[in-house]
Amino acid sequence: MAYKFYKMVFDIDNESTDVESVNDWMAQKTQDALFNPNGCDDCGKQVDHNIINSEGATIIKLCIDCYNRLMAEYNNVDLPDAVPKRLIFKNRGAIREFDVEFRVFERGKTLRATEIGVTKRKVGVIGEPNEDFDVMLNTLISRIEKALSIEYMQPDGYFKGDKAIGYIDYNFERDILEVFIDGKPYTWEELEHSVSAYEGFQIKIEFADIVDELE
Ligand SMILES: [Zn+2]
Repeated sequence: MAYKFYKMVFDIDNESTDVESVNDWMAQKTQDALFNPNGCDDCGKQVDHNIINSEGATIIKLCIDCYNRLMAEYNNVDLPDAVPKRLIFKNRGAIREFDVEFRVFERGKTLRATEIGVTKRKVGVIGEPNEDFDVMLNTLISRIEKALSIEYMQPDGYFKGDKAIGYIDYNFERDILEVFIDGKPYTWEELEHSVSAYEGFQIKIEFADIVDELE
């Protein structure tokens, strides 16, 4: 694998950025994974994608990185030298961490960031097959910074202003669909309280993929 793994630390408050290398740690992880028979057929890491034959049987199982490499070769796309797996932001005195997933597919590539911690914000970016990866990463970073800088909800569960953007996700434990705003889950009943304050107003409902930006 030609990937370098590193951790990036961003400080929104003073805009300083420093990059902490965790190559050694990842090298050890990869080494450990080589002994995992249930892992990726190429490197042993966690399986992300099964390639099946015409009968539906799995013939190759690959991790996300090996699958991306295969897709890149197949579609004649250059892979970036380095893909950060984790982005860390300092925001209003708190540390906010985001897992980053890079995916190459037939007609393009995506970067998706999912916050890990108490709040679970999600943002993403989509590019053409030969889109500059650094441009995509910078767009992702600015979208994360924007998501962290905005709060649509008040602590009492009512909307702060006249707009809110979030995403819909299924909660398997509670067996319900939830709406995440500011990275926090709300049930439809909870949102009903907030919406009731706008009786008689117009409402606009618009859907978009996580990798697209809603204004
Ligand atoms: Zn692999």
